[in-house]
Amino acid sequence: MKLVLATHNDGKTVEMQHALSHLPVKVLTLKNFPQIEDIPETGTSLLENAFIKAETVFKITGIPSLADDTGLEIKALGGEPGIFSARYAGEKASYEDNCNKVLAKLAQSGSSERSARFRTVIAFVSDNEKLHCEGSVDGEIIEDKIGTYGFGYDPIFFYPKLKKTFAELGKVEKNNVSHRGKALRNFCKIFEKRINHERY
Ligand code: IMP
Repeated sequence: MKLVLATHNDGKTVEMQHALSHLPVKVLTLKNFPQIEDIPETGTSLLENAFIKAETVFKITGIPSLADDTGLEIKALGGEPGIFSARYAGEKASYEDNCNKVLAKLAQSGSSERSARFRTVIAFVSDNEKLHCEGSVDGEIIEDKIGTYGFGYDPIFFYPKLKKTFAELGKVEKNNVSHRGKALRNFCKIFEKRINHERY
């Protein structure tokens, strides 16, 4: 059986491939389907956006598809950037632009409240099934970027239990504790049962 990861994000792809590597499936990426361009995220929630991506890729490829939609929710910013995490500082914003915007807005807010949560929804679509799983992790936004691993907001997301930012964790360490790692472990539990019951 094959599974295609419905993302153009290399950071997500690496983490998803690692978290799924024990499954008896061939995991493909969108590099195998260069005709698939960026999929507009027109939903109003992580759940809707995750299904938009998985359904689009399943329709085009005919291969069971797995999509991830993730948001960083910062308490002092009323839950921002949330579903706008990818384009917080504008449509073509870089990871650095987005991190800088978060840091500037927190500085402007004058609040000492730094708590934040990453939330991921994973959506799976095949010809006979749709399912989704979630994962989240709590941390704090620090005042300066630290670390070079990972992607996105990782350099400003401090994980108190390990006393490191996510950008100081390798992919294995990050998957062990992260929003995406948890969501994918939840997905794998369900998916492995399906495979064992030969529904695929
Ligand atoms: P989306 O899930 O494709 O809408 O992207 C959300 C945005 O959130 C990405 O472009 C990244 O900037 C950021 N993001 C998603 N996952 C992570 C993560 O694991 N660490 C840090 N930033 C992330």
